[in-house]
Amino acid sequence: MATYIKSVRQYSRKLPPDTIDFLRWLTVVYAKVKKTVYERYGGIGSLGKLKPGYTVLNEMRASGMRQELGMPVVYYELAVLDALTVIKGRWGILRDTLKRLAAFHEGFTKEDKTYIYTILKWSSVYAAILKREDYEEPDMVKDLPVDKHRLNNWLRRQTRKRLGKIQVMREAGFKISPKAGYSYKNGVMRIAGRQPRKRVEIPMRDGRQFSRQLHVEVKEDYIVLTAPVTKESSLPEGWANEIYVHIGDVDALTLSNGHVYGEGLNKLTDAETERLNAKNRLRSQYRAAGREALEKGNPDKAAVISCHNLGTMKYQRQKERNRAKTTSFVNAALNRMLAEEKPCRIVITHPVKMGKGGKIAKSAKRKLTRSFRGFIRERLREKCEERSIELVRIPSKGTGLTCSVCGEMGKTAVGNRFKCPHCGYDAAASLNGARNIEKKYRLEHGSIVGS
Ligand SMILES: [Zn+2]
Repeated sequence: MATYIKSVRQYSRKLPPDTIDFLRWLTVVYAKVKKTVYERYGGIGSLGKLKPGYTVLNEMRASGMRQELGMPVVYYELAVLDALTVIKGRWGILRDTLKRLAAFHEGFTKEDKTYIYTILKWSSVYAAILKREDYEEPDMVKDLPVDKHRLNNWLRRQTRKRLGKIQVMREAGFKISPKAGYSYKNGVMRIAGRQPRKRVEIPMRDGRQFSRQLHVEVKEDYIVLTAPVTKESSLPEGWANEIYVHIGDVDALTLSNGHVYGEGLNKLTDAETERLNAKNRLRSQYRAAGREALEKGNPDKAAVISCHNLGTMKYQRQKERNRAKTTSFVNAALNRMLAEEKPCRIVITHPVKMGKGGKIAKSAKRKLTRSFRGFIRERLREKCEERSIELVRIPSKGTGLTCSVCGEMGKTAVGNRFKCPHCGYDAAASLNGARNIEKKYRLEHGSIVGS
């Protein structure tokens, strides 16, 4: 039987103000430590230090930052290791990117590519090349007929270009580890406090107990724990269908067989976009009024304006409530689709990348943050994993504007219709998309399962 890891959440009861203050403070100093580690060890110069990580931990121990912050050892060291994991993850992504770039580089020979792949595999050699230090060549590349000087320069240039800065999410929470970080006594969770051997009680709303590293998020007067739990999964009996799904903003899920789940998702999200835009317009007017009052030497009036109209608590709460409404809509749509279609395999496309270089207009960005396609994909992936359903992603190329009937190029018209000028096919753009996914997949993989 297959297993998968699921994140489960646990909520605390309402916590006393001093406990919440302590937890908020932890969140802040934890983020500070992570940020410092990113700054000190996120660059090219530290690549050789990242594995196994003791060097960084020792240097951070000796730096005096922990004492300065008055932070308990458990939290401090976890923050350091947490940040290191992020840095290593980013190097991993960078290496994959460089491998892909090399693979598609038209000016590279087969040997050039072998050289690049090998160097990327040898951390210490790669690090030495980046820092222009001496190194011993791996045997595999010693006799390769390549211009090593040129390829090393390419590696250095691409690395410099792509090794961006890591953004520290503001107050994203912190981690705690079992035993030293948290334990249970009489069924009540207790976490390490500011003083040694003095634990802080965190009563939870249910009796589940964990023994793994947990993530802690501090809310207004309670906390949310996230724990990874290993579960078993198997395909429900009798589920043997193959479905082709278009994921969209208008209708969440459109299948090539014509079934639609999550119809009218856009009505929910558009209303929210509209509401937020109106709200933001109003807020900027208030902000301007506040600035004017300040300039005219009326700080009291400015304070009143900002206090009554620019508070973020209510705004955030409303935003979260609306998000929750949309996420449960999407969840229900996915559950209905699975229950009715009983698939053993689902074919979708890879997500379409948005703009190159990450420069997007502000209004587009605001809209994008509310596009739920990424969320739908993520939930679909989880649900497939839970049920051992195979999820196949194919490139989206040729699934958008191509006519699924005649194969010629068509266009999208008002109301998200697809119209083909060659054969006259007229359908919802999402349905045309789903049919193209089916056609494309079948072309490469032959017939449907079981037949
Ligand atoms: Zn056509």
